[in-house]
Amino acid sequence: MSKYNPYENMLHVLDRAAEKLQMQTNDYEFVRHPERELTVSIPIMMDDGHVEVFSGYRVQHNTARGAAKGGIRFHPQADENEVKALAAWMTIKNAIGNIPYGGAKGGIKVDPSKLSPRELQRLTRMYVRRIAPFIGPDQDVPAPDVNTNGQIMAWIADEYSAMRGQWEPGVVTGKPLTTGGSLGRNEATGRGLMFTLENWCSKQNEQMEKLTMAVQGFGNVGSVGSLLMHRHGVRIIAIGDIDGSLYNPGGIDVEAAYIYANSHGRSLKGYEEKGSSFIPNTELLKLDVDILFMAALENQLHNGTMQEVKARVILEGANGPTTEEADAYFAEKGIEVLPDVLANVGGVVGSYYEWVQNKTGYYWTENEYNDKLQKNMKQSFEDVYAIKEKYHVTYRLAAYMLALKRVVEAQNTRGFLG
Ligand code: GLU
Repeated sequence: MSKYNPYENMLHVLDRAAEKLQMQTNDYEFVRHPERELTVSIPIMMDDGHVEVFSGYRVQHNTARGAAKGGIRFHPQADENEVKALAAWMTIKNAIGNIPYGGAKGGIKVDPSKLSPRELQRLTRMYVRRIAPFIGPDQDVPAPDVNTNGQIMAWIADEYSAMRGQWEPGVVTGKPLTTGGSLGRNEATGRGLMFTLENWCSKQNEQMEKLTMAVQGFGNVGSVGSLLMHRHGVRIIAIGDIDGSLYNPGGIDVEAAYIYANSHGRSLKGYEEKGSSFIPNTELLKLDVDILFMAALENQLHNGTMQEVKARVILEGANGPTTEEADAYFAEKGIEVLPDVLANVGGVVGSYYEWVQNKTGYYWTENEYNDKLQKNMKQSFEDVYAIKEKYHVTYRLAAYMLALKRVVEAQNTRGFLG
């Protein structure tokens, strides 16, 4: 596998989008550079009394369309470059969802499974103190991402509010229901992926009940997405997590697997059902299925794995699972990629709905929330699809073209200084 830089990858797609739109470098050069990149050191007293210093990041990529917005991940691979790319993808994604935000992302280089709950809480709170001058409900609004959850978001809201001397739930989204969270938000990314597949099916005249699927990743996005697609009739024959890939050619009972994983530390290790076995993770990507649902990390489909893919469609639940090379290869082979910035936009659109409720203090029913999400996802899909058809480009390029147009228009209307 060649050396891979996700930010460079993003820039190449952006440049191709600009070219198709006949934009000059001058028109969009500002989008090629993050507005602000923050690196912080986070010293923590561990439970055994020794001090450890972690590296944390927050990148605000672009704020032409509104406050910076994007999740925070806790992962050993988090670094400046990864967070920078993830922040840029949020700029693109928020423009596609047509929500009034720019793009940001944060991360701490840490394996949270090695920390006690107290250490995790101290780490989160100290990170907030470090980035506090740069976040706020109208400035930059974090959310969950890989290995972060509602509990961590509640600590962020609490720490920030303590510093401000008043309760500020709108500083972060993805909070638990007890602390200003919204009904529907926890499932929003997975539900949005189900809507994306539904939207794709209606364009292609395909039926969900006839599709087979393999899923990589069974965290929040992979598990909720799989469960909802399974309920719509998709036959899921493999689900992979860190410990291996559960395989059942007759179709996995996703309801049972979901319950099992949630009560076994989000892992399927030890799960059994009739007809199932475990296969190595490397085999999952090679399965002869209609849809490959990528819901783990970036850079999974690359020049070392792409040739083995037999699926017709790649559904990107994770951010950046397909490298540039693999993307080009799939386009050439006629394998359709439903790209992250469109397919998983439900998460941040759902965050926007939570933020609106925090701002107004009026809370919606779950049905209201899901209806609005469905309408948004439909519109986002239609907007991208119209460009795809007009310019004869892939979904990904069409999505970038739409987003770039919207970001540039916003910046031009606001006017340039400097
Ligand atoms: N982490 C999610 C994403 O990558 C959600 C971000 C948000 O809600 O701000 O889209």
